[in-house]
Amino acid sequence: MPDELLTRLRRFNTDYFPQYRAQFKDLVDLGQHPTTLFIGCSDSRLVPYMLTGAGPGELFMVRNVGAFVPPYDGSSGLHGTAAAIEYAVLALQVQHIIVCGHSHCGGIRALYGEVPAEATNLKSWLELGREATLPVQLSEEALRRTEERSVVLQLERLMDYPMVRSRVELGQIALHGWHCVIEDGEVNVFDVNLGRFVPASSADHSGTGPYRAHAEEERESGALFNEINDAWAPKA
Ligand SMILES: [Zn+2]
Repeated sequence: MPDELLTRLRRFNTDYFPQYRAQFKDLVDLGQHPTTLFIGCSDSRLVPYMLTGAGPGELFMVRNVGAFVPPYDGSSGLHGTAAAIEYAVLALQVQHIIVCGHSHCGGIRALYGEVPAEATNLKSWLELGREATLPVQLSEEALRRTEERSVVLQLERLMDYPMVRSRVELGQIALHGWHCVIEDGEVNVFDVNLGRFVPASSADHSGTGPYRAHAEEERESGALFNEINDAWAPKA
């Protein structure tokens, strides 16, 4: 008896692959030319292909606990995520970079609690979200706000990558900050001008255009994250 995973692999080959055979052949013959780098949390409930309707060859993807972007200077060690960003921008020349967090994120929740002592890598990795935490009592609302703030924090760190910053400023790359509310099937997109997340159902854009103009101001004042800090400051 084949095990469950083996059964699924066989099913992919016989039931699913045939309808995509020509598409995969083109992608092999012509190479991949994805226009989007998707940096998402590893959470199994976040399904980027479903959210974006993307098929083979459309998303260059890197996922990690929390959807974090490590510092460009490599100060926290070896980074597959940093390598993927460099490859996507320099080799693939993507035009969009999405950072996608989500509701009920275990990585974000762990910032308010303990991680197993044995999980030394996880413990240091989670520090990439530390700055997004709030000095408030833990609540669903605080977690939601921390998840959203973390997405913005990662976008800011992304702008420390010289190859990203220069292309964003030239309008060659658009940054997108997304927060997926799993239970609602809604993705909230970060609107830089408003300084908050807006449901995709009522947003004007998916996080593109306005970032550029704002990035100019932000470079002078360092305001992007401050602004959102103010907007989300704990109520007295
Ligand atoms: Zn998560």
